[in-house]
Amino acid sequence: MLALKKTDAAFGLHLQDVPPPAEPGPGEVIVEVAAVGVCGSDIHAYEWTAGYEFMVPHLPLTLGHEFAGRIARLGPGVTGLAEGDPITVWPTVGCGACRACRSGRRQDCQERRIIGLHRDGGYAREVTVPADSCIRLPDGLDLRLAALAEPLCVGQNAVDVAVIEPGDAVLVLGPGPIGLGIAWLAQQQGADPVILAGYDDTLRLDCGRRMGLQHLVDLKEEKLGDAVMRIAGRPVDRVIEATGAIRSIHDGLSVLRSSGVLVVAGIHSEPLQIDLTRLVRDKKQLRTAHDSHAAAWPRVLDHLARHGDQLGQMISHHLPLSAALEGFELARRKRAIKVMLEP
Ligand SMILES: [Zn+2]
Ligand SMILES: [Zn+2]
Repeated sequence: MLALKKTDAAFGLHLQDVPPPAEPGPGEVIVEVAAVGVCGSDIHAYEWTAGYEFMVPHLPLTLGHEFAGRIARLGPGVTGLAEGDPITVWPTVGCGACRACRSGRRQDCQERRIIGLHRDGGYAREVTVPADSCIRLPDGLDLRLAALAEPLCVGQNAVDVAVIEPGDAVLVLGPGPIGLGIAWLAQQQGADPVILAGYDDTLRLDCGRRMGLQHLVDLKEEKLGDAVMRIAGRPVDRVIEATGAIRSIHDGLSVLRSSGVLVVAGIHSEPLQIDLTRLVRDKKQLRTAHDSHAAAWPRVLDHLARHGDQLGQMISHHLPLSAALEGFELARRKRAIKVMLEP
């Protein structure tokens, strides 16, 4: 079968013909992948930017952690799933033994591994995963839409970390797929207004408009402070950052109200220098969000089942796995929003 692999610690990915997975072991299943998204972290692994050295001991490795498909084969002892079941996968695999894992918080396990970054993932027709990583889909949900569940759960987690109350003014910085999802989910939670800001990014801001977001700001055309005052009429209650650009943290803090919360959800390659005295006097809360949590999955799948028309706007390209590198180049050059590969 065809698989898209990271083979060595350098720029690039390789499409290779590999043998299908061996029979699943106890507690494992084989998933036939229907659709798998290209994520920002996949692009980083492709470009081999700093921060992905942790992958080196696991190479060669099939990437892909945003996928949905059907159960193809069950390993011994697997209950609660049947061949043919439509599923998506929470790619975070915990050790199963530590206090975090036993409390249902595998995202906090210090031994956690990510399917598609530490072990073979979904850029192939078949992938072996632990059965307890699979989440059954609502009946009738399109598998290509279901592959959006992982990035949306990352967004839902960021919204949960921000603790949004109805009527809160929320600013989301960065209109990539994660930022688009965060803004849409914040709006579902009653935030009003929700402002989504990007820089010189018509393609993705227009996508936000098609998803039903009302306040899209291009910072090439309007200063952030001016846009916030024009739309909200006051500093915002919450800022969620999904850019990975350190400047956006300072920008976000500058328009956040006293005792407001700023959630950092981007991955930053530079350190943050901050006037801590000023932050303390303004009682601004700096939090971080990464990965997702168990309760996010059923909520996001419910949104996908009911609002697939809006959320599906994020998928700008459907490509066969054989055209994966073309998809990576589109995403890398910001000419795509979400590229969906179909193995
Ligand atoms: Zn991802
Ligand atoms: Zn653990």
